[in-house]
Parts: sequence; C-alpha cells; structure tokens
Amino acid sequence: MAILGAKSFQNYIDGEWVDAASGETFESTSPANGDTIGVFPKSAAEDVDRAVAAARTAYESWRLVPAPKRGEVLFRFAQLLAEHKDEVTELMTREMGKVRAEAAGDVQEAIDMAYYMGGEGRRLFGQTTPSELRDKFQMSVRMPVGVVGAITPWNFPIAIPSWKTLPAIVCGNTVVFKPATDTPALGERYVELFAEAGLPRGVLNIVHGGGGEVGQRLVEHPDVPIITFTGSRETGVAVTRAAAENLKHVHLELGGKNAIIVMDDADLDLAVDGIVWSAFGTSGQRCTAASRVIVHEAVYDQLASLLVTRVEQMRLGPGWEDDTDIGPVINRGALEKIHSYTEIGKQEGAKLLTGGEVADGNGLEKGFYYRPTVFGDVESGMRIAQEEIFGPTTALIRVSSLGEAIAVSNGVEYGLSSSIFSRDVNKAFRAMRDLNTGITYVNAGTIGAEVHLPFGGTKDTGNGHREAGQAALDVFTEWKSIYVDYSGKLQRAQIDTAE
Ligand code: NAD
Repeated sequence: MAILGAKSFQNYIDGEWVDAASGETFESTSPANGDTIGVFPKSAAEDVDRAVAAARTAYESWRLVPAPKRGEVLFRFAQLLAEHKDEVTELMTREMGKVRAEAAGDVQEAIDMAYYMGGEGRRLFGQTTPSELRDKFQMSVRMPVGVVGAITPWNFPIAIPSWKTLPAIVCGNTVVFKPATDTPALGERYVELFAEAGLPRGVLNIVHGGGGEVGQRLVEHPDVPIITFTGSRETGVAVTRAAAENLKHVHLELGGKNAIIVMDDADLDLAVDGIVWSAFGTSGQRCTAASRVIVHEAVYDQLASLLVTRVEQMRLGPGWEDDTDIGPVINRGALEKIHSYTEIGKQEGAKLLTGGEVADGNGLEKGFYYRPTVFGDVESGMRIAQEEIFGPTTALIRVSSLGEAIAVSNGVEYGLSSSIFSRDVNKAFRAMRDLNTGITYVNAGTIGAEVHLPFGGTKDTGNGHREAGQAALDVFTEWKSIYVDYSGKLQRAQIDTAE
C-alpha cells in the first residue's frame, strides 16, 4: 500500500497497490517551488485493461448491494475525509498550488458531496404513474450502467473526482479513475481514503498516466460504457470522437469565458470584492473564473481604479504561507501560455492596467508565478476577450446599457457561469432570464457553486449534461420503465380501452 509522503506511489487495481506493467514512472513536482512530490506509475493500455476487468467483475456484485448500504460507505468516506481534511489541504497547497483557504474549500466540497450522494442511497427516486388500462401498474426506476471511466483535470484535484465517482458509485456503477498527471498524489489520497471507508475491491480503481495513453485507452475500451470527462474543449472533442465508435455515453464539462457585469447602480466595493475573488482565486485557473468584466460606462473609470488598487496589493507566494493571496500557476506551459495572452492583448490594442509579467524575487523564481493582470479598453471581439486564458488575467469591457452587457456576456463560444452586480431587481431578473449560461449569480462573483444544484454550462462548455445535484444521477444511470399487467388477459396499449 502506498504511504503518504513516500517517494513512490502505485496504481490501485482490484483492491491492490501495483506498479505499471511496464515499470515506467513519472514525477509530480510542486508548482510553488519545484520540490518533488512523488514518483508515480506511468501506465499504459495493459494497466487500464486490468483495471477495467476488475471493475467489470466488481460491478456484478456492487450493483446488487442495496443502495442505502452503498450510501453508508459514502458517509464513512465523508467522515474520513473530514478527519484528514487538514492533511489533504496541505498536500494540495504543495502539489496543485492553490492557497490554503481554497484548498480546504476544495476538500470540503468533496465532503459535502459525499454526504449529499450518500443520502441518495435512500432516495434514487423513480416515478409511478397511473396506467391508461385497468389492473395494470407502471413505474420507472434508475439502473446503473456499468464501468465508468472518470478523467479529471488538476485544478480541483479532490472536488472534481468527487463529483464523478460519488454519484457513479452510489448509483451502483464501478469506476476506473484517471487523475491529471499534475496532481496524482491527490488522486491517490482520494482513492486511498475511499477504499479505507469500506469499498469492496474493484469498485474504485486508479490508474495514473498520460491522457494519450491511459485516458485514450479508457475512452476506447469496449467494456467502459460511460466516460465522464472534465478538461479542455479540445480534449473534450477528441474524447467524443474516440467514444463515438462504441456509442458510449459521454459526459463533458469543458471550458469557460465567464463575465461579471457591473451596472451603474451596483455597489462598487462589493463588485470589486466579487471580481478579485472570481478573477484571481486559484490564480484564475477555474473553469468559472471571471476573465471578463463588463462595466457600464458611467462607473467604468471608478471601478477600474478601485480594482487596480486592490490587485496591486495582492501578495504572490506559496499556498501554504498564511499571507499569500495568489499561488503559482500549474506548470511552465501554463505560465508561458498566460504570458503569450498578455502579448496578444497588447498587440490587439488593449491597455495593460497592471501586471502582465512573470513574477520573480523572494524565491518566486523557483515556481511558476504570474502577476495578477488587468487589461482595460478591451473590445469584446479581441482574442483576450474570447479565448480561455486559464490564468490570473481579466479584461475590462465598457458598455452603455444592460442589453449591450448581456449581448457581450453571451458573445463567446462558452456558457458556464455569469454574474451581474445591480441593485435594480428588474435588471437582475432580465439578466437571470437572458444570460445564456448554466450558472448565473446576482450580486456575487462567477464562482461559488454548492453541491446540491446542477453544475455545468451551455454551448461549448459541455454537451448538455450536468454534474452535482439530482442532475448528476442522470449521467450515471439509465431509466427503465416497467409495466406490470395483473388483469390476467392481454391488454394492448393505445388499442384496447379501459371500461
Ligand atoms: P486537459 O483537457 O488538458 O486534461 C484533462 C484530462 O484529460 C487530464 O487528465 C488529461 O490527462 C486527460 N486527457 C488528455 N488527452 C486525452 C485524450 N486524448 N483522451 C483522454 N483523456 C485525455 O485539461 P486540463 O488542462 O487538465 O484542465 C483545464 C481545462 O479544464 C480548462 O479548459 C477548464 O476550463 C476545464 N475545466 C472545466 C470544468 C467544468 O466543470 N466545466 C472544471 C474544471 C476545469
């Protein structure tokens, strides 16, 4: 069994800790200072096949365990995760880089989800409805589907695996989980605690390794009928294509280009709080990050000045230091991509109001730190206002009416989250109706989802499914409609009539 803090970690397949069949490994390092977190198996198709076979066997007995009993394992997991919350939080500040309060929030989200989905064990409601014929009963029930392939990104390394594995498992499915290669230690710790909570062997397996090998094999494996994937739009399209051959269920949660609207009647101090939290929390590496701020012209200058003042006070540093406001970004590639968008913004004619550079000094050069960046005078068609940057960069766009603000907010390919700051209830309700996103906040930033409401987006943010809440159950179950005729004679629906 892998021990936290040890250098070498393993896959967890069929209740056993094992190396990759090839014996190959890769390293996870801290984005905060380059420290090695651990060495992990670099798995390939053979390892995925073993895990799928184990999950397939486990499925035949797990689906028959009464759902309330399945739910009890989730309750125990919630308790264990709560007991280990501080330790997992610290690991997250080191391996993923987010600041301690946000890391604790990430873990808490999984605890909340475990309690919520554990309760589902005693619900999993279906429907009954009267028949059009006499002496006939009918109902619909949820059925598990089989082996779920869960592929996750690094930005919510505990919360996102929980959104996928907890509903999948309480519904009676079994899972092969592939975490991102930037956060394998957190994926491993998640599985270790879940197994300790009493999951039978094979119900949850983890296979470490790259998207091109482990991810791709999971997506193509004929014994994996569902893929639940969170990541970039580009990978989401590749996953959909690869899964098409076997007509798999594909659940996608992809990118965002979320906007906060600030109207002329808004509480500007509150709006700035919301913008700072939404644009720079997790160093802007949230699918729900506010990378656009759409501001009414009457308050544009005042808001820009308040925002820049606040942003320039933010302290960069490792997530485990108490006075850090912004941690590192995930890796060198991300740092370079974020900086390339600064160059693009300048070339497009946007005005760099603050930031726009890699941060160094005071040890920051050991990690991947980028100064929080605000662009002003951004036009809605510019690339920095259209493309997902996934870093601490936000773009101020000036508008002259609510209608224009909503059109600008909607004028991107993604549709995850949106927000409006206004004291006018009429404007707020128009925005709630007309903003074409899966989530809308009024007088709050673009982030802050709770586990019992659906989470996901419209347009290119996904493919119509939702995570969390009751909606998650639709991803991990199939409906079966059951008709029971106790009349003792043949009754034909739509043809015979009840007297
Ligand atoms: P990514 O698409 O690069 O990787 C996501 C996962 O897919 C990783 O585990 C990766 O190894 C795997 N993968 C890569 N290629 C694959 C392939 N061909 N087949 C199967 N799996 C493959 O994304 P990322 O950089 O890790 O995450 C950032 C992205 O995730 C952003 O676009 C962000 O908006 C999005 N995201 C969306 C949500 C949401 O709920 N909508 C939440 C968080 C992050």
